[in-house]
Amino acid sequence: MPEIKQQMCPFCGEKKALLREEDIEIPFFGRAFVFSLECEACGTRKSDVEAAEQKEPCRYTLELESEDDLNIKIVKSSEATVKIPRIVTIESGPASNGYVTNVEGLLERVKKVIQSTMESEDDESAKKKAKNLLKKIAKALVGREKLKIIIEDPSGHSAIISDKAQKSKL
Ligand SMILES: [Zn+2]
Repeated sequence: MPEIKQQMCPFCGEKKALLREEDIEIPFFGRAFVFSLECEACGTRKSDVEAAEQKEPCRYTLELESEDDLNIKIVKSSEATVKIPRIVTIESGPASNGYVTNVEGLLERVKKVIQSTMESEDDESAKKKAKNLLKKIAKALVGREKLKIIIEDPSGHSAIISDKAQKSKL
């Protein structure tokens, strides 16, 4: 994968960012560009994914039913919002990253988001609630919790790649 060193970092302005760009072919999605930026100076790490062709705003819904579903491929751009009803909503925004992963990888990321909010939480009942959510995620990771995953992307650069996923207009 091509790397460009010593690029100007858009976050701190130092010429210490490492840029990587990869051009990949994703079955049933098409060609996509995966970017990442790592800055030695300010420590920023950003990644994103963009479809090569123009896409429509989209919403994908997937019901997790078994352990096999953990392997379903997911393309999530930085403009997508991920919703797992009754568990978490991860909004897009400046800190949001884009990536190509599978359901298991997405749940691992969700776990980290819940863990970090739990650590910064002082309120005992909020902590307890977060712990329960983590238990649900852990069960889903072994195929024992039925969850729904919704990805909404106004840029259309996201997808859940499975016959089981329902695609609708956003
Ligand atoms: Zn920087």
